[in-house]
Amino acid sequence: MEVNSLMWFRKGLRIHDNPALDYATKNAKHLYPVFVLDPLYLNPDTSAFSPGSKKSALNRIQFLLESLSDLDSSLKALGSRLLLFNGDPVHTIKRLLNRWNIGRLCFEFDTEPYSLTRDGQVQDFASHTGIEVFSPVSHTLFDPREVIKKNGGKPPLTYQSFLRIVGIPSPPHANTISSLPPLGNIEDSEVSNVPTIEELGYADVKQEEYSPFRGGESEALKRLKASLMDKDWVANFEKPKGKPTSFENPATTVLSPYLKFGCLSSRLFYQGLQDVFKEVKKHTLPPVSLVGQLLWREFFYVVAIGTPNFDQMKGNKICKQIPWSGDDKLFIAWREAQTGYPWIDAVMVQLRKWGWMHHLARHAVACFLTRGDLFVHWEKGRDVFERLLIDSDWAINNGNWLWLSCSSFFYQYNRIYSPTSFAKKYDPSGIYIRHFIPVLKDMPEDYIYEPWTAPLEVQIKANCVIGRDYPKPVVDHDIVSKDCRRKMGAAYAMNSTASDVVTGEELGSLG
Ligand code: FAD
Repeated sequence: MEVNSLMWFRKGLRIHDNPALDYATKNAKHLYPVFVLDPLYLNPDTSAFSPGSKKSALNRIQFLLESLSDLDSSLKALGSRLLLFNGDPVHTIKRLLNRWNIGRLCFEFDTEPYSLTRDGQVQDFASHTGIEVFSPVSHTLFDPREVIKKNGGKPPLTYQSFLRIVGIPSPPHANTISSLPPLGNIEDSEVSNVPTIEELGYADVKQEEYSPFRGGESEALKRLKASLMDKDWVANFEKPKGKPTSFENPATTVLSPYLKFGCLSSRLFYQGLQDVFKEVKKHTLPPVSLVGQLLWREFFYVVAIGTPNFDQMKGNKICKQIPWSGDDKLFIAWREAQTGYPWIDAVMVQLRKWGWMHHLARHAVACFLTRGDLFVHWEKGRDVFERLLIDSDWAINNGNWLWLSCSSFFYQYNRIYSPTSFAKKYDPSGIYIRHFIPVLKDMPEDYIYEPWTAPLEVQIKANCVIGRDYPKPVVDHDIVSKDCRRKMGAAYAMNSTASDVVTGEELGSLG
């Protein structure tokens, strides 16, 4: 029997490998492809520390709008279009289910707590009104709930044990859609087009620089193809090798924002990598290979969904309880790229301007904020990343902050990144710093990582007097890093009864 179907896009902003969309088209009299513009993520919040909404900085909003435009174009090419609505997603979807006499509701399963609550409410409503609901897993390679079931009801807490449980992911859905069922009557439904950033209320906002990465499925597929074309690079990919300071030609794929919004299917990415591996004599393996990177993503999704209070220290069984300091001055200096350590500040500028930085650059600033130097709570750093990253991902971001702060997964708190010498080995002349902190562009090479050590006449000649044009270091790394080690040691001693979830096999595998 033919039904009216509603395809609710949220992530999964793509046509390829989209089982929810495929199912929505089956025997559909009418198909309504809908996206709800959620005010929480989109409406301007003037109290936030950078332009954007409560939850998202402008770069990610821009990325989302580009992804929606691209999806709309693809749907139009298939004889349909994207129907956009403004408002609370739960109320909006409930209203549309009634108005359009929907018999089938399809949406991709989403593991984030906010989404689980939202989707639960819609699902309950739909089920009570006799609407069929189809919510497949297609954001990840595996269904995290199944992995937990296979592991006896608990998430595996090490990468190696995770690898032992999961098998081979199922292949992406073959793309069978050549045209879409027609839209029904949408005349009195307040449908809007994809808004511009100005139409969302950001007309007066001055953003110094926008991210160079454009959103959308078309861009994702181009980027995937370009990455896979260089078979040697794919076969020899090894993380954490690669230059974190390489910004014009990043050392990694920069597919993360596309995976975050589901412009790219992780299964298609995985299959593409396997195809390359078949053609080469040998290739790297997890955890360091590109397949290994995708599996880190899966690992964090599984642990995140299976750990109560995963995104906080309190009440989180896998998180060490550490008495982080509440020093707001130091935290703000870090957030505003004003620590006086050029490498750290340059990474934070890249985060604000581009919404993306290399993995090891993320390591460096996360370690600096928490257990390395400032001893500020990882949740504060997590919030900054969550808002500014274009690839901001609840499970992965929290998982990595837990890791970097030595709160979980990784416990070698004695291994601290130096804010002066770590990046020097990749970029001795400081090209990265000069690009992101132009006030330091004429600082001689000898001083670019420690400009406060330059004699005053050198600073004057470089048009950058430390303490006037660029801050003095907010802390002395040699002193505070020792203090941090001591505090971590004391906190670990207090936590000796907490669950020690990692084994030697894991240590250092992320760098
Ligand atoms: P590639 O090296 O090309 O890897 C391919 C894909 O594998 C990535 O796109 C990503 O989906 C996945 N991946 C790679 N590294 C990791 C990892 N360590 N954990 C989980 N998945 C991984 N990544 C996010 O996608 N969203 C976040 O919010 C996020 N927050 C982070 C916070 C901190 C403190 C740190 C240290 C890392 C964070 N990462 C996050 C992980 C990682 O840095 C990025 O996924 C990676 O840099 C993205 O670049 P890429 O796509 O070029 O990665």
